[in-house]
Amino acid sequence: MACVVAVEELLPQLAGLRIERVEAGPEALRITAVTSDDIPRACPGCGQVSQWTHSRYVCHVADEAVGGRSLVIDLSVRRLYCENPACPKVTFVEQVDGLTERYQRRTPALRRVVDAVGDGLHRQRESPGPIHQPRPR
Ligand SMILES: [Zn+2]
Repeated sequence: MACVVAVEELLPQLAGLRIERVEAGPEALRITAVTSDDIPRACPGCGQVSQWTHSRYVCHVADEAVGGRSLVIDLSVRRLYCENPACPKVTFVEQVDGLTERYQRRTPALRRVVDAVGDGLHRQRESPGPIHQPRPR
């Protein structure tokens, strides 16, 4: 018996995207998705919303592992024109809440995991604990 579950139900960070493909390999999942042409986005320079598309490109975003497999989302995003003639930003790349952040190749969720691991390693290095002490003979 087949079980049909929408990808967005398992991965709510993909809600609102058009899922074009899911590839499940032994060590990785790869999802190809496209943002909607109909959702206006706010310019990071002035806050003016726009949906005037300049172009599209695919960014590759690493997300938290699923079932022990790494997850990469190949996401087609829009570069939009800012519609405010007084704004110094002529174009900007749309960001998807919970999925993309400017200049990041990881989702916010994966970035928090990586940051927490880094903080833990840093604290472990800074405080001498039993792990760093030589064993008594
Ligand atoms: Zn602007």
